[in-house]
Amino acid sequence: MSLDTVIPLVNLRRQYVALKDDIAAAIDAVLDSQHFIKGPAVRAFETAWLSALGASHGSGCSNGTSALSLALQGLGIGAGDEVITTAHTFIATAEAICHVGATPVFVDIDPASYTMDPAAVAAAVTPRTRAIMPVHLYGAAADMDALLGVADRHGLAVVEDAAQAHLGRWHGRALGTLGDAGTFSFYPGKNLGAYGDAGFVVARDRAVAEAIERLIDHGRQRDSKYLHDVVGQNQRMDDLQAAVLSVKLRHLDAWTATRRAHAARYDARLKPAGFKVIEPLAGSEPVYHLYVVEVADRDAAMEALRARGIGCGVHYPVPLHLQPAFAGSAARGALPKAERAADHVLSLPICGAITEDEVDRVCDAVLAVARPLDRE
Ligand SMILES: *Cc1c(COP(=O)(O)O)cnc(C)c1O
Repeated sequence: MSLDTVIPLVNLRRQYVALKDDIAAAIDAVLDSQHFIKGPAVRAFETAWLSALGASHGSGCSNGTSALSLALQGLGIGAGDEVITTAHTFIATAEAICHVGATPVFVDIDPASYTMDPAAVAAAVTPRTRAIMPVHLYGAAADMDALLGVADRHGLAVVEDAAQAHLGRWHGRALGTLGDAGTFSFYPGKNLGAYGDAGFVVARDRAVAEAIERLIDHGRQRDSKYLHDVVGQNQRMDDLQAAVLSVKLRHLDAWTATRRAHAARYDARLKPAGFKVIEPLAGSEPVYHLYVVEVADRDAAMEALRARGIGCGVHYPVPLHLQPAFAGSAARGALPKAERAADHVLSLPICGAITEDEVDRVCDAVLAVARPLDRE
């Protein structure tokens, strides 16, 4: 099969080719400036990203995983604390909870949207619970009204993992700006991706944002090189990554519009054939980081799609409570909806650089080789 008949899950190369000259100029400008860390390119991107979100306080950082642990630490969450999160997410969400010494408590999902079930969250609150960490998985919002309500009733912080949800919205407000803190990943394959690792933390409260800013840079006092208020870390954003991100940010709205149009095109073909797809909650404006469909006999379907040159993936095949790293957190069968999703979800190609014709070819292939799941 030749390279151009293959439809990859994400076509980063096609995106790069379209932006090549602008990216090269932005990188050259950083090299000319010789400011590589927390320099003018980082400041410019921070300003642009906060403005795109409509947020007041936040900082660039090293990646989406550090963004989560920095948010928790900035909110004072640590050893002995429990943080409730979803079992159906990338492992980084729960890793970050462990990195600050807290314990992740996994809850089940709402199977329509694949996001954490607020009723399950309410049931999991204990005297040790300090925070709720929803994930806006696949770019579609968790039920923020319900979750903020649970948090309010129990005096808990809310940290939104918006690593897959750049400029997605909940009742008009940008995801990542609704809780006490919100985090983003700019891993290359994300909707807004750097050419390496990068991340971002937003905080509602100025003091929390300043605490996080200090933690990112060795606990340093502002404008001081060798005075350190607290024991910090080195989790800074690089100027080269910030420069790339600033170029790409100018295109993010257009890419998101394309993702949404492609998702609608997939929906129109796959839903009538009986396939379960992402059903965003009312009030959610999803950005379709992934386009996910549930299929019977997934391994066979994937193999058949790949044989036809269709890139596909599974996000994610093993729920976190069944990961060896979290052995003992919950038994098999305890979170049945997350377990069922993990067994059947299949991600199909979607990004801002895929064509309608390619989406149609993926649909033809799915309808030819995959079967919908029987829904009880
Ligand atoms: C990508 C991702 C992360 C981690 O981001 P990195 O930048 O790779 O560290 C965290 N949570 C979710 C849901 C993600 O998809």
